[in-house]
Amino acid sequence: MSISIIAQTIQESATLKLNERAALLRAMGEPLIHLGGGEPKSKAPIDAIMGAIANLNSGETRYAPADGTPEMKQAVIRYTEEFYDRKVEPENIIVSSGAKQAIMVALQTILNPQDEVIFPAPYWVSYTEMVKLCGAVPVPVYPEDGSFYPRLKDIEDHLTSFTKVVIINSPNNPTGAMYSEQFIAEIVEFCEKRGLYLIMDDIYHRLLFDGKKPINCYKYAKDLSDNSRLIVINGVSKQYAMTGYRIGWAVASKKLIEVMTNIQAHQTSGPSIVMQKAAIGAINGVQSSVESLRRTLENNRNVLMQELNGFEGVYCPKPDGTFYAFADFRYYTKLHKKNSKQLAEFLLEKVRVAVVPGIEFGLEGWFRISTCGSVKDITEGIQRIKWALDPNSPNEIYIGQRKLVRDWI
Ligand code: PMP
Repeated sequence: MSISIIAQTIQESATLKLNERAALLRAMGEPLIHLGGGEPKSKAPIDAIMGAIANLNSGETRYAPADGTPEMKQAVIRYTEEFYDRKVEPENIIVSSGAKQAIMVALQTILNPQDEVIFPAPYWVSYTEMVKLCGAVPVPVYPEDGSFYPRLKDIEDHLTSFTKVVIINSPNNPTGAMYSEQFIAEIVEFCEKRGLYLIMDDIYHRLLFDGKKPINCYKYAKDLSDNSRLIVINGVSKQYAMTGYRIGWAVASKKLIEVMTNIQAHQTSGPSIVMQKAAIGAINGVQSSVESLRRTLENNRNVLMQELNGFEGVYCPKPDGTFYAFADFRYYTKLHKKNSKQLAEFLLEKVRVAVVPGIEFGLEGWFRISTCGSVKDITEGIQRIKWALDPNSPNEIYIGQRKLVRDWI
């Protein structure tokens, strides 16, 4: 079979695959703890559900404009005013099937083959593959100081004549790190000066802890004319626990949005009208579910940190937001003579706990651990991992009714 050269370079989505695997094990009655997920477990806001139902009940569910309905765009305009203190027009907005599609059509609009796209590492699994789909080259940047907080110099050092785009995701998947206001200010200024496109992936911007507030990149943009190369991404998936609705958006210059719309029109004809009605409900409706989710996640983060602090050999920088933590398991990858993929597979096999291997995010020996589940999931999940990996743990453990005896270390 002949597969295109580009398609041959595309990896399957490790996170989506893990979700499928976890669902399968659960369906088989296995006592699985899923610490690998990327979606909140809370219910979608009632206003969202009502919005979708009203449209379905009408029996008139039709094509919508490829760039989003006027009503949905009004909701995004309001959102942008509230969170970014910026008044945009409908022509500055494209609504897509998830933030993922918004980023994809943005990249397709901007990139030529061979162009380079810089983003800090560890990075969201899809950035590399999306860039490759455009025939362009992903350039992950590992902060020189070994932290999860890049400095401008880290980015500058990777600049070449091919660099076209910088992607910033803060707070970050997979580390939970929120970059400093100073860094955001510097990167906005730097991209403007160098004529680079800057994609701010703000999908987690309301899920912040310890009293932190979302950072508004527009505050530091000097050029907000139609020549602006700043693209701000957001969506309902994470903040409203609406991953399955597949609605996200981009705010950018009118020219960029026009071309992005042309591309999206031929890809999907635009996002589903039913789901846009739901998203409008979520954005314009009662917002208490966002704060409630944020608080739950902060508490879960605290529980996870406490559990990991008592885990010898494991180091985990404290996340500032999101529902992920990125933990250093290199002590155990060495001890068990496995890489992060093999060790994650081993944990799933032996103690039925799912975590995502760090290599998928560009860092070997680490795990992404999700705090989307319950406190019990987190405490029991980490205990099981500890039991499986740490030779100082007792020899036996009960998982549900099942007694396990460790015979591997
Ligand atoms: N950006 C980041 C950093 C993400 O983690 C995700 C979801 N995993 C997305 C974008 C895409 O979100 P959506 O569900 O809106 O496509």
